[in-house]
Amino acid sequence: MELIQSVRECQLWRRQITGSVGLVPTMGALHDGHLSLIRAAVRACNHTVVSIYVNPTQFGPREDLSAYPRTLERDLSALRNLQVSAVFLPEDREIYPDDYSTFVSEGELSLRLEGQSRPGHFRGVTTIVSKLFNIFRPDYAYFGRKDAQQLRVIRKMTKDLNYDITIVDCPTVRDINGLALSSRNQYLTKNEQLRAAVIFRALSEGKELFEKGERNAGILRKVIEARILTEPLAKIDYISIADDVSLTEFEGEITADALISLAVFFGPTRLIDNLNLPLKI
Ligand code: AMP
Repeated sequence: MELIQSVRECQLWRRQITGSVGLVPTMGALHDGHLSLIRAAVRACNHTVVSIYVNPTQFGPREDLSAYPRTLERDLSALRNLQVSAVFLPEDREIYPDDYSTFVSEGELSLRLEGQSRPGHFRGVTTIVSKLFNIFRPDYAYFGRKDAQQLRVIRKMTKDLNYDITIVDCPTVRDINGLALSSRNQYLTKNEQLRAAVIFRALSEGKELFEKGERNAGILRKVIEARILTEPLAKIDYISIADDVSLTEFEGEITADALISLAVFFGPTRLIDNLNLPLKI
């Protein structure tokens, strides 16, 4: 497994390998969710590249950039067991030198949901992902459904900018109580982690009701909200029931495949999760 820190070395590495390349972008503090993406890449591709980079441009000024968990030694030992070909570990100045001035932004999907709560977040995401796409020229790139809007924004960017890359989405990995694994779960105490399982219970209740035939988005939102508010530690940022493709909010009847997504604070920790509501015709 090669550890690479400079863009130049990545490009040289890329030139001398043959066969398919799968890219898994991460911010490190790897957990089983990340590892499931990496395993999928290793199964399908001749070479898997994992990037570990806490990308400052996707954090807002009052967000957790400096506190974000960094567990490099542990991450590398997890990766050594997985037949990863290369790990890219750049420093900030390698990605954003002092004179850096080019950004990539998607102008529709990015503005909704997370884009409302975290202005500029997706501009940072699309910029770093397009840089990684250019640096590694992968055939496949792997993203988690856990970050449902990110996945859609990246698919749109890939299409709009004509990247010849297949975006592969992987299911959300959860703990035994249903809490979606996230590097940010490390901010929670064990007790808070147990209590945060209310998020998945609420999403599941919404989905069950939908499967029983409830099509009113307002009613589903209320049910999800009521369940989350049973947990005194939780503070709701948003609960969305939106068109699965355009991410426009359903106000009344759900008339197309939908996505329930939400962001909930547990203390200062902001957690996101989602479930699909496919309309079976
Ligand atoms: P991050 O390190 O949080 O930027 O995540 C890197 C990649 O792992 C993204 O594509 C995430 O969607 C994905 N990911 C994060 N958590 C999970 C999870 N619990 N299950 C599946 N994929 C995940």
